[in-house]
Amino acid sequence: MLFSVVLSKYSNQSKGNMPNRKTQGDIGETEVVKLIQCPNCHKKLQKLPRNYPLYDVQCTGCSFRAQVKTSQSKPKGIIRGAGWDVIEKVMKVGITIPPLIVNFRWIKSGKKGQQILFFPFIPKSNLRRYQLSSNHRQPNYKMFNYTGLMRLPHFTLLQDENKE
Ligand SMILES: [Zn+2]
Repeated sequence: MLFSVVLSKYSNQSKGNMPNRKTQGDIGETEVVKLIQCPNCHKKLQKLPRNYPLYDVQCTGCSFRAQVKTSQSKPKGIIRGAGWDVIEKVMKVGITIPPLIVNFRWIKSGKKGQQILFFPFIPKSNLRRYQLSSNHRQPNYKMFNYTGLMRLPHFTLLQDENKE
C-alpha cells in the first residue's frame, strides 16, 4: 500500500528523462521479453507501460517483476542507473531496490556477444549517486549508477558468446 502511494507521486518523473538512452532501453526490454522467460515460473514476461514506476517487465503467470537495464558492453560491475530523486524517495520509506535484469550486448572482432544476468537483490550500498555537470543539457541533474554488481549473487538467464 505504502509502495503504491509513494510511487504514484513519482510515476511521471521516473522515466523518459533521457530520450536516446530510453530508445536503446526499449529495444533492450523488447529483447529481454523475447529471449528469456520468468526466472521463477518460466512463463512469458511482458513489458510494463513506459510510465510505470521502477519496474519494466512483469511475468504473465506470477508476481515476478523487475527493472531492466541494457549495457553495450561485456558483463561488468558498474552500469548506469537512472534519476536519483525517485530511488532516493523509495529507499527513504524503506522500500527495497527492485530486482534487476541486465541485458549486456557487445561486439568483439566482428562477433556479437550477449549475456542476460538477473540480480534478485541489490543492497542500498551498491548504488552510487553522481551529478551531471553544469554544462550538460540537463544541468546538475542527480543520477545513480549500480556498482559492484558482479560481486552480488546473480543468475545467468542467457549466455550467448558468439552470436551471428
Ligand atoms: Zn513467473
